[in-house]
Amino acid sequence: MNMPSLPHPMPPPKKKSRVMILATGGTIAGTAPANHPNGYVPGKLPMDAMINAIPGIHDLTDIQWRQVAGIGSQDMTFSLMAHLANQIGALFESDTADGVVVPHGTDTVEETAYFLNLVVKSSKPVVLTGAMRPFFTLSSDGPRNLFSAVAVAADAKAVDRGVLVVMNDQIHGARSVQKCHTLDVAAFTSRTCGLMGAICGDCLAGNAIRYFRRPFRKHTHQSEFSVSPDLLFPRVDILYACADMPGDLIDGAVERGARGIVIAGVGNGNMNDHTIRRAAAAVQKGVAVVRSSHVGAGCVLRNVEIDDDAMGFVVANDLPPSKARILLMLALMKNHRPDQIQALFDTY
Ligand code: ASP
Repeated sequence: MNMPSLPHPMPPPKKKSRVMILATGGTIAGTAPANHPNGYVPGKLPMDAMINAIPGIHDLTDIQWRQVAGIGSQDMTFSLMAHLANQIGALFESDTADGVVVPHGTDTVEETAYFLNLVVKSSKPVVLTGAMRPFFTLSSDGPRNLFSAVAVAADAKAVDRGVLVVMNDQIHGARSVQKCHTLDVAAFTSRTCGLMGAICGDCLAGNAIRYFRRPFRKHTHQSEFSVSPDLLFPRVDILYACADMPGDLIDGAVERGARGIVIAGVGNGNMNDHTIRRAAAAVQKGVAVVRSSHVGAGCVLRNVEIDDDAMGFVVANDLPPSKARILLMLALMKNHRPDQIQALFDTY
């Protein structure tokens, strides 16, 4: 006997995702007032002027925005980064957004991205973007970058990939991304670790956002670090190594209260003999010394030309100096022993 077939239950209507834009400024929001002698002023264009000028952006997702700051990212501070982290945390905790986009200047976007990657306690997408050319100038990369960043923040496949940076159709991981050109629209690379993904075609047509990998290190909700906006960060200085580097730069940093020093070393995080001796003396005084490299790609390895075990130095692995500084700052709020700090550098 044929059983009457039961009607199929209707699938629940697909919920449209919600993306919050937290604008901080940068060239993407740059304007050139008529009386400005040359160039442009970053961070002045209001968000709604930008959103209204991007066709199709509202078809991607429900978009809201807030102006958190209006600065050139050369003026970014750790207190503003912490404020941003707390705003993002509150948005996710209250389930007000499924993803966040942070328009940001390109000069320090990799630093803010890595900071957020270490302190935001959520696996939801956080996507930073910017532009090399002001929004309303000829062939600006701003509209496309903002559109792509919103598309990635609304994409369920972006979940649990750590904080991302979307520029020029490329999706970079916060830990790996580095600015590598002063002017080109192809100004970012993830040279050592590779791209997290890419935008291949039209985001509105579907299947355009492709991912190639996941983060290699702990991030966001897996991280042990957290911050509040009123937190006082320990001073960490970066010293740029070069031929005939004066070793007493180390003493100057220690005298000014640095609790950590990152050497932007030559080659494999190297520095001259005089500087090594001053740095080892700083370690004896309780100052953490991390060896990074200003080469721009590759890892700094322990105990190659410098006896890190004997000197009490930490190596940054593949973190460039500016990101090593951020991790050291957060690390110093937890640990002080070189082996403990090295363990954190091997984890994040
Ligand atoms: N100086 C600008 C900034 O970082 C450069 C840019 O956004 O491209 O805000």
